[in-house]
Amino acid sequence: MTPTAAPSSSNPIGTLSAGTLPILRTVEDLRSQVAAWRREGLTVALVPTMGALHDGHLGLIRRGRELADRVVASVFVNPTQFAPHEDFDRYPRDEGGDAAKLASAGCHALYAPTVRAMYPQGFATAISVGGPAEGLCGTFRPQMFGGVALVVTKLFLQALPDVAVFGEKDYQQLMVIRRFTRDLDIPVRVEGLPTVREADGLAMSSRNAYLSADERARAPELNRALTAAAAALAAGAEVDGALTGIRGRIAEAGFGTIDYVELRDAETLEPVTAVARPARLLAAAWMGKARLIDNVPVIPAG
Ligand code: AMP
Repeated sequence: MTPTAAPSSSNPIGTLSAGTLPILRTVEDLRSQVAAWRREGLTVALVPTMGALHDGHLGLIRRGRELADRVVASVFVNPTQFAPHEDFDRYPRDEGGDAAKLASAGCHALYAPTVRAMYPQGFATAISVGGPAEGLCGTFRPQMFGGVALVVTKLFLQALPDVAVFGEKDYQQLMVIRRFTRDLDIPVRVEGLPTVREADGLAMSSRNAYLSADERARAPELNRALTAAAAALAAGAEVDGALTGIRGRIAEAGFGTIDYVELRDAETLEPVTAVARPARLLAAAWMGKARLIDNVPVIPAG
């Protein structure tokens, strides 16, 4: 049977079923589902997403199943992490398709609250993040990590999972989440999953839907350039030259504006000028209307 999701307006008690996958609309419904699992002595993993799910997201669900007895995924396009000129309105949304994919990946419940349920009238609280949130995407999307911290903190406190799973595809976001979870003593274990890629190396992303066929064919050069430079850096290549090489290569492939190409410490995300300990090579660049991000590890040789 193909699971389908019904609109929230026809859902007086908040819980609908997509096949065997309950769809929870309110924090009360989420909490009572988690409480029922707790009464059975089961552990719980949370996988926060913005929907338009692909195999990268489903990898997080599978990892969640390894880490806990029950997995709840959230789908919420979070307005507080988008600037007014960004793609909040046109961000792809497909709740029925998402519910079907989640059910097939073995997810146990979908939490899909409305914007009004997450941010009721009069909502007046913000979270300020520093440390790993500084620079990189923090410079080009200054509202983003505060918005991410706000929504992820709310999701953590709403679900109170044992563990939450995030992708290394958004490496800076993962480091920001780890840091504020630690700083605020939130009792949730934060797990990262390596980036899931298309066969040609392009990182899977909901925003890849913005690419034309020609742009899609050019886009994997971002990962190829990063991977080649990471190998050279690990073998002792000079950092500035390697970063300039990546810029040249992706510009040649048809990327337009390059927001950044940087080498950072893998844990603190502080800038580094040599590879003495594990580092991360991170980039963000525009291909047509799509802002693509990617990152790869740089492990010092020996
Ligand atoms: P998003 O829906 O884009 O906000 O992403 C939700 C979660 O999925 C985040 O933890 C992302 O890092 C993760 N994610 C997105 N794309 C990938 C991918 N290609 N591989 C692994 N994780 C991913």
